[in-house]
Amino acid sequence: MPIRYGPGTGEDISLARRQLAGHVAETGLRTSPVLSRRHGQTVGLKLENRQLTGSFKIRGATCAILRLDAEQRQRGVVTASTGNHGRALAHAARGQGVRAVVCLSGLVPANKVEAVRALGADVRIVGRSQDEAMEEVARLARDEGLTPVPPFDHPDVIAGQGTAGLEIVEAMPDVATVLVPLSGGGLAAGVAAAVRFRRPEARVIGVSMRRGAAMHASLAAGHPVEVLEEETLADSLGGGIGLDNRYTFALCRDLLDDVVLVDEDEIASGIRHAFREEGETVEGAGAVGIAALLAGKVRPAGPTAVLLSGANIDAALHRAINGADGSGGGGNG
Ligand SMILES: *Cc1c(COP(=O)(O)O)cnc(C)c1O
Repeated sequence: MPIRYGPGTGEDISLARRQLAGHVAETGLRTSPVLSRRHGQTVGLKLENRQLTGSFKIRGATCAILRLDAEQRQRGVVTASTGNHGRALAHAARGQGVRAVVCLSGLVPANKVEAVRALGADVRIVGRSQDEAMEEVARLARDEGLTPVPPFDHPDVIAGQGTAGLEIVEAMPDVATVLVPLSGGGLAAGVAAAVRFRRPEARVIGVSMRRGAAMHASLAAGHPVEVLEEETLADSLGGGIGLDNRYTFALCRDLLDDVVLVDEDEIASGIRHAFREEGETVEGAGAVGIAALLAGKVRPAGPTAVLLSGANIDAALHRAINGADGSGGGGNG
């Protein structure tokens, strides 16, 4: 058994780093000449859009699987996500020869169901809502002994996501500001804990879309609250933080220096900038950090790292945002 440290501690994230070595990509930090010139500070892009399965979620999912004990490994894992977490968990489980069950509601479109199945997951269609899919997760955990791996509110998931923060500080030891996309807060909590651990003087700022920013509303209220879910370009940032949130709310409250919100047109500008100026394909959630910089909502004080969290955007939507010619101009730079 590995030594367990408390959730969200630097020691736990360092352990995750050693465990993940060879299982996930080290995505590096690439300086953006355009953003650096514009802000008069070195701006580095943490390219998790280039991560395996197209998002950082493979870090937390892999960490959770590698930390299963022998019996848990033998029984398998279960989750209820159609998005980047479901994809990551399916991929990580297959890599370790562990069974992954993904519970989806009957309303999930067939192409998304197929995508999860293609990664080797055992898909179970239940009911007509996400709540019913979540109930099936609880039932499988109870009746079949599967281990639930939730998308953010889990110590091993937080530790895995935090490894991106360690890589940022290694690549930019004098980093002063880190911008992190924020939804349920697994990524922001892990990255903030890692940055605090290695570079306590740096600021870590969460960025969410204005439409349905559950963590922002919860931090303002002082406890987890529900918000109306609205359609947004940053679809991977949708959803609540859970009224029974155990870890990420407190960690984000204690570790984030600020949370800023970006509007839909700003997110679109972020996606466009990433493609045209940086040659990077990012989804809406992955573009919110660039969006906050471009909109002047965060002023970089010193060297700044911006985490681009994912690439999984619908191709037609990406073309539409990038302009009528479909190529987005000089996007191959
Ligand atoms: C899940 C996800 C996020 C948000 O991560 P949380 O840990 O839920 O805050 C951001 N960007 C992308 C691409 C994601 O898939």
